[in-house]
Amino acid sequence: MAGNQAVFLDRDGTLIEEVGYLDRPERVALFPWSTDAIRALNRAGLRVIMVTNQSGIARGFFTAEVVDAVHARIAAVLAEGGAAVDAYYYCPHHPDGKVREYARVCDCRKPGRGLVDRAVREFGVDPEQSFAVGDRWLDVALARAVGAKGVLVRTGYGATEEHQPPAGLVADAVVNNLVEAASWVLMNR
Ligand SMILES: [Mg+2]
Ligand SMILES: [Zn+2]
Repeated sequence: MAGNQAVFLDRDGTLIEEVGYLDRPERVALFPWSTDAIRALNRAGLRVIMVTNQSGIARGFFTAEVVDAVHARIAAVLAEGGAAVDAYYYCPHHPDGKVREYARVCDCRKPGRGLVDRAVREFGVDPEQSFAVGDRWLDVALARAVGAKGVLVRTGYGATEEHQPPAGLVADAVVNNLVEAASWVLMNR
């Protein structure tokens, strides 16, 4: 069972500090509890799949290579603490982008389910046994779209978002940060 369970993990404002468009790996700052949270999920046997919208690529603010370098930096910091994200998936698209190859409507921009479907193909995870964790309502909407449970964290935009829920959207849990989210996941899996 555990091998089919995943946490679809938002990046900015959830695993690392929200800094606007993150255009250099040197600007990566994990929250102090992030490594502990990911390691706990690793040890429990859940897949940890990052799913992040990076429309800055389509907008021409930074390249896909920069995003890859950011993820390599995150992986290195996590590895120092014995933690690992199983896959780093991102959506590079935006309908209003300037970079032609990425300027389009897609199914992988959250709350679209394209990145979750990729995890189903590549890891055999079962979305209905899984969780989405993030600081925006679109992360909860992703959970709803795929039949997962949705956890909103109050880091990043979360403290503001908490009080501005879109009509009809309710989180399964609202917690202070990623380590609390990991605890909630492990108690509600
Ligand atoms: Mg976020
Ligand atoms: Zn996309």
